[in-house]
Amino acid sequence: MSRVFNFSAGPAVLPEDVLKEAAGEMLDYDGTGMSVMEMSHRSKAFETIIGEAEQDLRDLVNIPDNYKVLFLQGGASQQFAMIPMNLMKNRVADHLKTGQWASKAISEGKICGKINVIASSEDKTYTYIPDLKDLKMSDDADYVYICHNNTIYGTKFNELPNTFGKPLVADMSSDFLSEPIDVTQYGLIFAGAQKNIGPAGVVVVIIREDLITDDVLPGTPTMLQYKIHADNKSLYNTPPAYGIYICGKVFKWLKKLGGLEAMKRINEEKAAILYDYLDSSKMFKGTVVKKDRSLMNVPFVTGSEELDKKFTKAAKEAGFINLEGHRSVGGMRASIYNAMPIDGVKKLVAFMQKFEAENI
Ligand SMILES: *Cc1c(COP(=O)(O)O)cnc(C)c1O
Repeated sequence: MSRVFNFSAGPAVLPEDVLKEAAGEMLDYDGTGMSVMEMSHRSKAFETIIGEAEQDLRDLVNIPDNYKVLFLQGGASQQFAMIPMNLMKNRVADHLKTGQWASKAISEGKICGKINVIASSEDKTYTYIPDLKDLKMSDDADYVYICHNNTIYGTKFNELPNTFGKPLVADMSSDFLSEPIDVTQYGLIFAGAQKNIGPAGVVVVIIREDLITDDVLPGTPTMLQYKIHADNKSLYNTPPAYGIYICGKVFKWLKKLGGLEAMKRINEEKAAILYDYLDSSKMFKGTVVKKDRSLMNVPFVTGSEELDKKFTKAAKEAGFINLEGHRSVGGMRASIYNAMPIDGVKKLVAFMQKFEAENI
């Protein structure tokens, strides 16, 4: 067996300990004589799995009692629709446009109501986070929406906009659990699992209870109502059971590591190794304004498409895979999520130094 260093933006690397544990339990989970994949989602064993997953997540993120935790399906993209369908009472929302995922949420929101784009970084290909002072919030907006970490462009909100009491909705798909957050600052947080949590197929939603109501837009299907899932503890229908089981293992792995404070320190150390090199390199350059750099997704370029190609090809041959930038932007991107070992980043930088010396 040989494992590569996988820098994919998602589905992405998972902790090896988690994969090994799951492998060990594949045929017989905890004496049940079956895999979690074969198990009723109404069984005692699964009830324990989902219950512990929720509790461990609550402990890790310090989620207050007046917030529900939901394990849903449909990817982060389905949340782009569920959010307006459930939260738009006036049919108005304020959005910050900081990249492609933020833009997709705007498009979906427009199906339901009026979307005011109150800030954008489109003018410079989303390489920065707009100034958050003096944003023109709309009086009648039902919520304010941000994409907290922009996976494709490698920017991250290090501060939050003042929403003057309106619920802040955040897409944290690519940085959830990378560092501690103050949940009380948000009305709703969501994250697709396949970036920094677990396997594709699960979306974690943390939603303040007062935002969970029957008062949804007319025609909202049952399956797209937060209240249905909240009332049924994420078991209204068959949940993505195996995915939730793996997420639960990742939560336990994070707890054992020392929680999100410890994870943040490791992530900062990891990111600094790569950014420091990018800042000193004569060949590779980071593309993001320094103060808005993501800890998770690190885009960079050589300035020559040909050289970019040569680099990603050579890297792949050396066991560093999925370093190509998103198909819409080109260049390179190293996604260094929680589960990417520090050794992977050190070895990548050593490889880049060697490539630079040989190709300058
Ligand atoms: C990947 C990603 C999405 C889309 O996730 P799907 O699960 O494929 O729908 C949305 N937002 C962000 C920030 C992402 O990184």
